[in-house]
Amino acid sequence: MITVTKTYLPNKAKYQAYVDQIFASGWLTNNGALVQKLEQRLKEHLGVKHLILVANGSLALQVAYQALNLTGEVITTPFSFAATTNTLLWEGLTPVFADINPNTFNIDPKLIEAQITTNTSAILPVHVFGNPCEVEAIQAIANKHQLKVIYDAAHAFGTEYKDESVLNYGDISTLSFHATKLFHTIEGGAVITNDDQLAKKIRLLINFGITSPTTIESVGTNAKMNEFEAAMGLCVLDDIENIKQRRAEIWKTYQQELPSNLSFQQWNQHSQNNHAYAPVLFESEEELLKAEAKLKENSILPRRYFYPSLDTLEYLKIKQNCRNSRDIASRVLCLPIFPTLSTGQSKKVNNIISGVK
Ligand SMILES: *Cc1c(COP(=O)(O)O)cnc(C)c1O
Repeated sequence: MITVTKTYLPNKAKYQAYVDQIFASGWLTNNGALVQKLEQRLKEHLGVKHLILVANGSLALQVAYQALNLTGEVITTPFSFAATTNTLLWEGLTPVFADINPNTFNIDPKLIEAQITTNTSAILPVHVFGNPCEVEAIQAIANKHQLKVIYDAAHAFGTEYKDESVLNYGDISTLSFHATKLFHTIEGGAVITNDDQLAKKIRLLINFGITSPTTIESVGTNAKMNEFEAAMGLCVLDDIENIKQRRAEIWKTYQQELPSNLSFQQWNQHSQNNHAYAPVLFESEEELLKAEAKLKENSILPRRYFYPSLDTLEYLKIKQNCRNSRDIASRVLCLPIFPTLSTGQSKKVNNIISGVK
C-alpha cells in the first residue's frame, strides 16, 4: 500500500543513543538539554530569531493567539486543515473567511479588507502547501487597520521568500512537526517571532504561566515538547537535505509525466517549492473521483487535502460561501510524496492517472 505520506524514520541506532542519554540524565521533559539543542539548531537552520518548541502545531496556534491577546474576529482562509479554524473556535475567537486566489490556493489579500469590522483583531493566513502568501500586501492591510498577523506556517518548513525565511513575516509564525510533515518530531511544533518580549511571554504561556518555583505570573497552559520528541527532531534534521532532495525528484516525475489536463498550484515567484506536498488540480470533481478510485484499486491512497472547504462546516455561526475555495477543494488531490517512495512507484501513480478517462 502506498499512502500520501510516510513518516520519515531516521537511523535507529542514532535515536537509541539519544534515548540512552535521556535515561542517563533522568530528565524527560521541561526544557531539557535536547529541546534546547534542537531549538538552537532549528533557529540556525531556518534563519529565525526566536523559536520556541511546543507539543504540537495546534497548541502553537493557540499559544500565538493568547500571546497576542486576540479578541473577537480573526480573518482566515477557508482552504486549510481543520486546525486553522478549529483552534480559533477553541480559543473563543470567531473565524471570518476571506476567499482564496484560485491559482496560488492562498488567501487573496484583495478580499481581506471587505471582511474587516470593528471586532477584527488579526489576520491568520496559511502558506498553503508551503507556498508563501502575499506577505507584503497582507502586512500593509494589517498596518492600516492595526491588526496582528499570525501565519499558520505548518507546511512552510524551510521555505524562503526573497532569500530569507518566510517565517520572519507577521507577528508570529507557527510550525507543525507532526509525523506526517516534511520535518517531524513525532508530535510537535514551534512558535516563531522576531519580538523579544513576545518570545518571553510565549515561554511563560507554554509552562502554566509559572516563572519560578514560587511564582505564577499569568494564565498558561502545558504545551511543552518532551526530550524523546526533541531526539527524533535532532535525528531527522541531520537527514533533512536528503529528504528534500528526494522529494524534489519525485515532484519532478509528477510534473513532467502527468497528463496535460491536470494543473498545478502557482508558486510564489520569490520562492522555491519545499515539496511538502504534491497537489494536483483536476478539471472537475468527477475526474478527481475517478482517478482516486482507480488509484485505490491499485492500493495507492492519495488524500483530498483540503476537503471540505472550511466555510462549509456546519458548526460555524457565520455562514459564508467562498466559491474559489469550494471549487479548488473539490478538484485538488495530494499525491504520494515521501523520501522512500521509489521512482517506479511515482511513475505507477502517473500511469494510473494518465489511464483514467
Ligand atoms: C498539520 C497542520 C496543523 C496542526 O498541526 P498538529 O501538529 O497536527 O497539531 C495546523 N495547520 C495546518 C495547516 C496543518 O497542516
